[in-house]
Amino acid sequence: MRKGRLYVLSGPSGTGKGTICKAVMAQGDPELALSVSMTTRAPREGEIDGVSYYFVTQEEYDKTVAEDGFLEHAGIYGNCYGTPKAPALEKLESGIDVILEIEMQGAMQVKRAYPDARLIFVLPPSLDILRNRLRGRGTENEEQLQRRTASALEEIQKIADYDYYVVNDELEGAVARVNAIISAGRLEVDERAAELVKKYEEEK
Ligand code: ADP
Ligand code: 5GP
Repeated sequence: MRKGRLYVLSGPSGTGKGTICKAVMAQGDPELALSVSMTTRAPREGEIDGVSYYFVTQEEYDKTVAEDGFLEHAGIYGNCYGTPKAPALEKLESGIDVILEIEMQGAMQVKRAYPDARLIFVLPPSLDILRNRLRGRGTENEEQLQRRTASALEEIQKIADYDYYVVNDELEGAVARVNAIISAGRLEVDERAAELVKKYEEEK
């Protein structure tokens, strides 16, 4: 049976990774799951524990690191984030593709540890639009906003480490492009080569 594939959706804060993931997941594909990360960050208004993130204390986070319980983990903007390893690997084993919506240090850890993962970089149409979207989201204060936009260009400069890019101009188009990447992934020959050949050999 085909194993699931790991997809990483990464890119600067405010490019719309969360919005794209939500829209992709809303299509209800039973063979696609979105990983729920752990974070030490405080919940924002409307965020639900266990859905948006697992909101944990620094102690709980450190314990998970010590137990090697993360598939990848990283600190950013003064908070810690990590992808719980067991649920993601279980889904992949049972043939379900898994999306990780994570920042770039984590993306690079995934690339090293799971070379079959496909890395997607979400680009804003422009840095100006990025700043406006972050402002519009209203979840950062002015200082945090400056910090996040300042690192955006540095992050974009590392795009060569990725397999695909998606410009998030209008949402529908961006979602269609992510769907196309996932559909193509399901048509890769990969570990199914032997299985495919056998089917035709049996006919001989
Ligand atoms: P990220 O998860 O990358 O930090 P978000 O998904 O939170 O970014 O998006 C940042 C802001 O931009 C949000 O307010 C969101 O509603 C808005 N946004 C996302 N995608 C689009 C789009 N295609 N067009 C206009 N606004 C968008
Ligand atoms: P936010 O605090 O805005 O929800 O997320 C900040 C950044 O952390 C975003 O770029 C988001 O993609 C990233 N992030 C969320 N979960 C994880 C995770 O499990 N691992 C890593 N490395 N980054 C994460």
